Parts: sequence; structure tokens; C-alpha cells
Amino acid sequence: MRKHTSDLQTATRLTHAGRKGKSHHGPVNPPLVRASTMLFPDCAALKEANGTRRSYGRHATETTLALEEALCAAEGAAACMLTSSGLSAITTTLLALLNPGDHLLMVDTVYDPTRQFCDGLLKQHGIRTTYYDPLIGAGIAALIEPETRVVFVESPGSLTFEVQDIPAIAAAAHAADAVVVSDSTWATPIGWASFKLGVDVSIHAATKYIVGHSDALMGAILTNEALHQRIRDTYRQLGMSVGGDDAALALRGLRTMAARLAVHRDSAQQIARWLQQQPEVAEILYPPLEGTAGHALWKRDFRPEYACGLMGVVFRQDIVESQVAALIDRTQLFGIGFSWGGYESLILPTRPANYRTVKAESWQSPMLRLHVGLEAVPDLIADLRAGFSAMRELHYEEPVSIAD
Ligand SMILES: *Cc1c(COP(=O)(O)O)cnc(C)c1O
Repeated sequence: MRKHTSDLQTATRLTHAGRKGKSHHGPVNPPLVRASTMLFPDCAALKEANGTRRSYGRHATETTLALEEALCAAEGAAACMLTSSGLSAITTTLLALLNPGDHLLMVDTVYDPTRQFCDGLLKQHGIRTTYYDPLIGAGIAALIEPETRVVFVESPGSLTFEVQDIPAIAAAAHAADAVVVSDSTWATPIGWASFKLGVDVSIHAATKYIVGHSDALMGAILTNEALHQRIRDTYRQLGMSVGGDDAALALRGLRTMAARLAVHRDSAQQIARWLQQQPEVAEILYPPLEGTAGHALWKRDFRPEYACGLMGVVFRQDIVESQVAALIDRTQLFGIGFSWGGYESLILPTRPANYRTVKAESWQSPMLRLHVGLEAVPDLIADLRAGFSAMRELHYEEPVSIAD
């Protein structure tokens, strides 16, 4: 296999990492290996392989090793562990790094199933969680307790897209001997230099842009060298593993991810600007767009060429839920569904206040989440225009106050 190719630019690395070098004579791609049992020619070979990752299909195959190598090269990680879903990558990491009696600082804008894990299994096992304001920055220091072992970040945050000051949070965490674990799904492995910003473990729902085609679930734990063995021990004890077919799909997705993200970003910028002009829209939550909340921090810490296509739309307070439903139902090109990161556009009504314990009151207006896919922008705008017409047609009691 080609070595980490860290001197090459991102798009080049994504197409070459985890593949054999120029002298290779054979297929472009690593083989798709479906394997449980590995065979050994004799007892000596068995003895040599025993305890290594080459001993059993759950630990590694040529396919999963190629994907791990490519993901490490993409983000500059020391090691990669693949799991069955993004959520299991998060739960495995937290179980590895937290013991009974420990304390976890969790961002309030975290993906809700992660919150359920903290309030469920972690709590049952005597691990306390405190949720913090995503905009806390260096103020995180005041929340760190002697038992705090992990500070968890997710930036931009789920549904509301707040950008966190990761270097400030990491400095405070490291000063207290805590580690920084990041759900980096929005950024993808190429959207920011996570490890340089102070992240110790970067987790991805590979389900989103890495697989990129809505046809497989997968998680990836990318770690620095210091935490690698500790997380791998837990990973192995929990029996985490991915199948060869899914690994091959993720590897295929990764090859085109840089090119796809450039299109998602351009289209999302255009759609966001169009949405800002609609009178029903109060705010667009898309940090890559100039003038939106979080843009300055985003510009400082993220790579502008690879922004993703996920954004929030906040409506005026007088817009009612049935109007938002009418908009959603009228569109034809925006599928209604959870998840995101595939080639297709998606639309979803959201209620962030239902999932927050810090500043929940900030989010009272009806909201949408949009995933801008790879369709042509004029078609997407025409579709949204039809949606807004449906919203406007809907008969409702006009509040007296909007006389202007
Ligand atoms: C989708 C998602 C996950 C979970 O990924 P799955 O593969 O669906 O388990 C975790 N974090 C974020 C931010 C997500 O969007």
C-alpha cells in the first residue's frame, strides 16, 4: 500500500490513499473481501497470526484495512476503527474513555441519540453528564470538575448549527487533563484540520458524506496515537466490526467526496441566498454563508472549499406548523427523511427546543432542515418556490400584528 501521502493535496490523497502504488499490476481497487474465517496453512502460521488483526474476519480484511488507511490519510489521524453506525462509533469511544465516577462535558447541541446514550447507559453506569452552551468557548474551564475526563464537541451543532471555538475549548480541556472528542460528521474528514485544532478523537457518521449515496450505514473513529490503544481495546471487547460490502461502498464514496462536497457547498450557498429573500424566512443557519451566525469562527477553523450541504431554516414566529408542512409536502425533489449526506436533497421539519436543556427557549419558531443534494440548483429553487406558494396559499388566521 502507498504510505500516507501527507505531502499531497486533499483531493489527491482521497483518490490514492489505501491503494497500491504505481508498480501495482492489477485492479484499481482493493479486493472486496467477504470473510469471517481466515485459514492458516499450518500450526506455525496459526500461532504467528494469533492475536493479530489478520487472524479473524471481525478484526480486519484487505477491504477494511484499505478504508481505514484512506480515512487516516484524509484527516491526518494515527488510527481508524470502523463500526456499524455513526452512533456506535460515538458510544464505543465514550465507553472506552469514561469509567464509573467520571464526568463528561457534553455540548447541548449534540445529535440527540448521543444525548440519549449519556442520559441512559452512561448514567446507569455511574458516569455523570453536564450539558454546556455550544458558544461557551474558553468559559468551559469553569465547568470542568476534578472528575471530568472528556469534553465532547459537535460543530456546527445538530439542527441549530452553532460553530464552537474548538481551540479555546481544547486548551481548557487539555489543561485539566481531559480529552476532546468530536462528532465531526458535518465537517467530514477533509473539512477541517481537527487534530491541529486540538481534537483528540474525531468521529464520523460515515453514513453521511463518506458513503455518500444513502445505501449503507457506518461509523469511523479516528484517533491520535495517545488514545489509540485504549479505544481499540474497548472496540475489540465490544465486538465492533463492519462487513466487506459496506466497507467497499464507503471506500467508493470516499474517492469522490472532495468533488461532491464542492458541488454541495456551491449549491447550498445559492439556495441559502435565495431562501434569505423569502419574507417568511427569519434566519438561515449555514455558517459557510457570509453574514450568518458562526461565519467568522467557521472561516477561521474550517476549509472553505469543502463545506457541506446541510443547513437550517428558521421561519418568522407568526408562521404556523401547518404552513411549514404544506411547504414540505408540496416539494417534489426534496425527500422527507432523517439522515443526510447522500447525493439527493432532503427536507425535514425540526424542533430543537425538544432536545435541549441549555437555552432551549431560543428556538421557538418553526424550523426546517435542508440537505442540498447534487441536483441542478434552478430545479431545486423552482421546487422550493412551489413549496413557498403552498405555504402562502394555506388559509390561516392572520395575526393582527403583521399590518406592515
Ligand atoms: C447521522 C448522525 C450520526 C449517527 O450516524 P448513524 O450512522 O446514523 O448512526 C451521528 N452524529 C451526527 C452529527 C449525525 O448526523
